[in-house]
Amino acid sequence: MKRISDFNFSGKKALIRVDFNVPQNEEGEVTDTTRILAAKPTIDKVIQDGGSVILMTHLGRPKGQKNEKYSLKAIVSTVAEVLGKEVQFASDCIGEVAEQAVSNLKGGDILLLENLRFYNEEEAGNEDFAKKLAQLGDVYINDAFGTAHRKHASTAVVAEYFPEDKMFGFLMEKELDAIDKVLHNGEKPVTAVIGGAKVSSKITIIENILPVVDNIIIGGGMSFTFIKAQGGKIGTSLVEEDKQELALQILESAKKHNVKVYLPVDVKGVGEFSNDAEITIYNSNEIPDDKMGLDCGPKTSEIFDEVIKSSKTILWNGPLGVFEMSNFAVGTINLGNSIAEANKQGAFSLVGGGDSVAFAKQYGYDSKVSYVSTGGGAMLESLEGRELPGVAAIKA
Ligand code: AMP
Repeated sequence: MKRISDFNFSGKKALIRVDFNVPQNEEGEVTDTTRILAAKPTIDKVIQDGGSVILMTHLGRPKGQKNEKYSLKAIVSTVAEVLGKEVQFASDCIGEVAEQAVSNLKGGDILLLENLRFYNEEEAGNEDFAKKLAQLGDVYINDAFGTAHRKHASTAVVAEYFPEDKMFGFLMEKELDAIDKVLHNGEKPVTAVIGGAKVSSKITIIENILPVVDNIIIGGGMSFTFIKAQGGKIGTSLVEEDKQELALQILESAKKHNVKVYLPVDVKGVGEFSNDAEITIYNSNEIPDDKMGLDCGPKTSEIFDEVIKSSKTILWNGPLGVFEMSNFAVGTINLGNSIAEANKQGAFSLVGGGDSVAFAKQYGYDSKVSYVSTGGGAMLESLEGRELPGVAAIKA
């Protein structure tokens, strides 16, 4: 497999799949440039070598129709600003318009193609469409981790037309390295924190990581299914009644794998789902019938802190409480602080998947952990042990 750092792009046209599916305001202005910035190292490398860059991405869900609302034209100036270079635009991603724009490219030029999802063929993984995209470049780079779990024309199928000259971009490499460090090469002890609302959405992740972790911290709403399954009284806390058997099986399997499982020992209990509700701390298995646990309590935070600080590798996925309400964000904040501290002491920490990424950014932990994943679904599927089509296509 070729590596981008070893490749010389001089005189080459690099077709790069990026994930510029950026958030926009009503006026179409980009409100968060993280994804553009994340692709910059890859783009810079091609330019510095004297190659030219053809960027392809999707934006929103235009569902196979040309639609001004989702035109990438609106983001060209922001892309240029973030990259610090002029960016040309082609009003179509295939066909004459795109081919013409590409033929005019000189070394150092950057071209952004119009939204790939203006064609149904993109998401369908259509061979012919992929071939048309492939004709535009001499070499293919996939740097779109956020869509790597999809077998789309631009994320996977197109790679078939570059049997030799295909590779990951720097962002993809970093994402895959981070996952690898946690799942395969993590310095021990390895601790996974799995939180969030439901056991059912995290079950495959838990099953996949049990053989590779030393500790697993289970927090948030999903912990109550485990606590109830073991005979605890959880009041009106969130529970998946039909997943109790599964919870017991997980605990049994953890024992077999010699994995220590940590559940909250105390919770912040309230009578109603409100930030202003009066809070009482209860043991997590002795919650009164009319109370629900919305966050972990202080004793739990202390125990989790010890586990985290004695870990050398940490994976964090999911909040430990209803962090959207400030009074129930405390347990998750405490956890973030523990992970930041462990990180300072040399541990490797990866934050991945949906809510925990948003949380880490909101509270400034993104600069205090080793790596924050840019791909929600792709990260979750990786942690579930599935091979991502976008990754398999490059490795093939
Ligand atoms: P997930 O999408 O599965 O990662 O779950 C995230 C959601 O879980 C967030 O919206 C949290 O508010 C919610 N959550 C976390 N802890 C609790 C809890 N104790 N009770 C109800 N919801 C919770």
